Amino acid sequence: MRDENCIFCKIANGEIPAATLYEGEEFRVILDLGPASRGHALILPKNHFVDLLDLDDRVSSQVLALAAKVGAAMKKSLGCAGFNLVQNNGEAAGQTVFHFHMHVIPRYEDGPSMVSWEPGTCSGEELSELAECIKKELK
Ligand code: AMP
Ligand code: ZN
Repeated sequence: MRDENCIFCKIANGEIPAATLYEGEEFRVILDLGPASRGHALILPKNHFVDLLDLDDRVSSQVLALAAKVGAAMKKSLGCAGFNLVQNNGEAAGQTVFHFHMHVIPRYEDGPSMVSWEPGTCSGEELSELAECIKKELK
């Protein structure tokens, strides 16, 4: 359940120190060393999962509620106006540490724009084709 070569396994289980906001049976929540904004946090399961597709039911059923608690605490303590949840899966999606983690990124009024994209375009026909294509694999 742990990977001895994984830095987030070591941090989550207290072998490497990190600024910890929360520790429970399943998770540790730490501050990111390269924060996107003041208070940027990472939710780390204590067991090793590569990404979202690898998570067990126990962790996946708890992680969103924990993210909500962290976000609410950030709004009260830091005075941020909102927060983003970001969770990268795979190198192509920007994942650099291959131990599942969820970013909780406080957002401030007049803060820099981030976690955004230029909206593209897609015809109604393309949308229908895409929906059918993905639907086939959704069980
Ligand atoms: P990702 O690109 O989604 O895999 O995010 C990895 C994140 O982990 C980045 O935001 C890094 O700044 C952060 N990070 C990497 N090593 C550490 C560390 N030792 N302690 C805290 N945050 C870290
Ligand atoms: Zn790990």
